[in-house]
Amino acid sequence: MIPYVNEPADIVIPAHLLPGDGRFGAGPSKVRPEAVAALSAVADTYLGTSHRQKTVKSVVGSLREGLRSLFSLPEGYEVMLGNGGATYFWDAATFGLIERKSQHLVFGEFSSKFAAAAKAAPFLDDPEVITSDVGTHPEAVTHGDVDLYALTHNETSTGVMMPIRRPEGSAGLVAVDATSAAGGLRVDAEQFDAYYFAPQKCFGSDGGLWVALLSPAAQDRIRSIAETGRWTPASMDLSIALENSVQDQTYNTPALATLFLFDHQVQWYNENGGLEFSAGRSDRSAEILYTWAENTGFATPFVTREQDRSHVIATIDFEEGIDAATVAKVLRANGIVDTEPYRKLGRNQLRIAMFPAIDPEDIAAVCGAINYVVGALG
Ligand SMILES: *Cc1c(COP(=O)(O)O)cnc(C)c1O
Repeated sequence: MIPYVNEPADIVIPAHLLPGDGRFGAGPSKVRPEAVAALSAVADTYLGTSHRQKTVKSVVGSLREGLRSLFSLPEGYEVMLGNGGATYFWDAATFGLIERKSQHLVFGEFSSKFAAAAKAAPFLDDPEVITSDVGTHPEAVTHGDVDLYALTHNETSTGVMMPIRRPEGSAGLVAVDATSAAGGLRVDAEQFDAYYFAPQKCFGSDGGLWVALLSPAAQDRIRSIAETGRWTPASMDLSIALENSVQDQTYNTPALATLFLFDHQVQWYNENGGLEFSAGRSDRSAEILYTWAENTGFATPFVTREQDRSHVIATIDFEEGIDAATVAKVLRANGIVDTEPYRKLGRNQLRIAMFPAIDPEDIAAVCGAINYVVGALG
């Protein structure tokens, strides 16, 4: 007989309810086994070779070409990359992309950080910061003295996505933190000047690298700031990064495995139909997960407005009687990992990534597994 309350540690989810792959973290996130196998197959001739030589440069070239195609970049746009991840790019952009004054839409942990970096820079005016409650997103307000609008395509801490559009009548650059969105959400390149991200989320690779898709206006801004002689540490100098990128190189040594896995994922997307294919997978997962949450008696999507609910990161609140942390712990013990919520948000919820690498069928399996755990907890 099933006792009226199970000890969490004793709950064993039946094998037929488990997903094929148990990785649902918001980043680092699932790396496809096919990509790892492909890396392993070229390991002897690729890993441990010079990034100044053709073998590695051709991977960087393939990656840049693949991203150009995936995002249908208009003529004149460039793919720039460097070491340090998205966090590093905020600092580099503070030096090399903001001329004088930026405006930031802040609606969670990640979007607040670029605003803080701009505010701390002694050579910039204080930024305008527009905030909204967690679980929603603010709208940009066009102001003549703003030369860069800092948007976030998907706020990973709260599971809110927002459409990327140029603020009406604005002359400033539009810089978009797309770290968890790029490759999983649709975007029109005409609507941004710098769309930047790191490869450990929708691109199923590892962290430590940043990429920025740059419009001609963003490239001009980078060069013109460099010409004014603003002091910038060389490793953060976007004009140096741009110069290297167009030659399929990075300023200093990149992680070769990361580049390879990243390129492999971009190729997988492009070979299957591009952004429609990859974003379509996240759409399918989101439909499964939110439909499930709305139909259970014990869970609800945290984000109220349907159009704001992210298709790459779901945040699901649990009713008071069910401790989400315990559910996450049981899932983890059963091989379903990283469903814990964003700590600082402090809610009784699970956060589940629905990046394109994650099979929609596995998202369906997680829903069933959660139902089982909640039932077993009594
Ligand atoms: C993960 C994430 C970051 C931080 O990325 P790092 O590569 O770890 O610096 C920044 N912004 C968003 C929206 C993210 O999801």
